[in-house]
Amino acid sequence: MAVKIKDVTNYLESIAPRAYQESYDNSGLLVGDAQAGVTGILITLDCTEAVVQEAIDSGCNLVVAHHPIVFKGLKKFTGSSYVERTVMLAIRHDIALYAIHTNLDNVHTGVNRMIADKIGLTNLRILAPRPDTLQKLVTFIPEADTEKVLAALHEAGAGQIGEYKNCSFRVEGTGTFLPTAAANPHISQAHQQEQVREIRAEVIFPTHRRSDLLAALRKNHPYEEVAYYITPLINENQEVGAGMIGQLATPIEPLAFLQGLKSSMNLKMLRHTAILPKNIQKVAICGGAGSFLLQDAIRAEADVLVTADFKYHEFFDADGRIVIADIGHYESEVFTKELLQEVLMKKFHTFANIFSKTVTNPISYL
Ligand SMILES: [Zn+2]
Repeated sequence: MAVKIKDVTNYLESIAPRAYQESYDNSGLLVGDAQAGVTGILITLDCTEAVVQEAIDSGCNLVVAHHPIVFKGLKKFTGSSYVERTVMLAIRHDIALYAIHTNLDNVHTGVNRMIADKIGLTNLRILAPRPDTLQKLVTFIPEADTEKVLAALHEAGAGQIGEYKNCSFRVEGTGTFLPTAAANPHISQAHQQEQVREIRAEVIFPTHRRSDLLAALRKNHPYEEVAYYITPLINENQEVGAGMIGQLATPIEPLAFLQGLKSSMNLKMLRHTAILPKNIQKVAICGGAGSFLLQDAIRAEADVLVTADFKYHEFFDADGRIVIADIGHYESEVFTKELLQEVLMKKFHTFANIFSKTVTNPISYL
C-alpha cells in the first residue's frame, strides 16, 4: 500500500504533537491533499520557491520544513510576495507543504536535543516546562477486567511519567449500582441493588490524547455505563516546553567553550556578552529566537545561554550573571534537517527522504 501524506504527518505528529505548538504558530499540512500518495520527501529548514523547485526536480511531492511558509492569512495569490509565489508554485505542481515548527521545538526529543548532542550536553531537561498539558483519569473497573482496561489506556497514551511507562495507581473498593428497567447491565439485572469489587485506577495523560483515551476506555470496559472522571492538573509537563538545560562533562574556560561552539555548530561567527570569571558547565539552549528564556536560564543557574535573535538592548540583560551566545537563527536550527531525516528514515523506506541542497539562510556574512 502506498504511503499517504497523512501517514507521514501523523507519524511526525506522534513525535511532536501539534497540540504542543505555540499559539502564534501554524504547523501542520499547509498545502496539499493529505490522502495523496508520497513519491518522496524533501527535508528543509525553510520552504522557499527554490526549495519547491528542488522538490519538483527531484521527484518529491512532499516538502517537510521546520518553519511554516504560511504564518498569517493570505488574502490573494498574485505572486506579489515570496510566500504567495512559493504556495502558488507548490499548488501548480501538486507539491504538498508541511511544517513541524514550535511543536518540534517544544518536545524533549526535538530541535534542542539536536543542539545538545552537537555541544555534548548530558543531564538534559526542559528549561521552561509547560503547565496545563496534563490531566488525570480516574475510573472504576471490575477486578477481572482491570489489566485489560489499563493496558488499553496505556496503549492510548496514558501513564507516561518521564522515562517510566505504564504508570498507574490502583486501589480496591466496592462499587454499587441499581440498574433501571431500561438498562442492559453487564452484571446484575433491573431493580436489583448490586455491590461489586472494583479497582479504582488513576492514570496521568497528555490532554491532547483525551478523546483517544476515552474511546479506549469505552471500548475495553465491560460496563454499559463507564464511571470515570477527568481532572486537569497544574503539574508542569517535564517533557514539553521551551529550551533545554544540560551539563558539560567537565567545566571549561568560557572562551574555549565559545570557540568549541563555533566548531561544533559550524559557525562563521557568533555574538556574545562579556566573558565572566567562571568556567562554563551548565548550558541553556534554545534553537531559533530564545531571548525570552534569559530569566529562566539565569534562574536555572546556567553559565551560558546559547540561542539566537537577541536584540541589542536584550544583551544588556545578561547583567554579569550569565553569558549570552547568539549563534544565529539558521545556524542554531539547520541541524533540524538531520533530526527530521533520522526520524523519517526509521519509519519510511519505500521512497526517498532527501536533504534539500538549497541554502535558505537569508543572511550573508561579509
Ligand atoms: Zn526557527
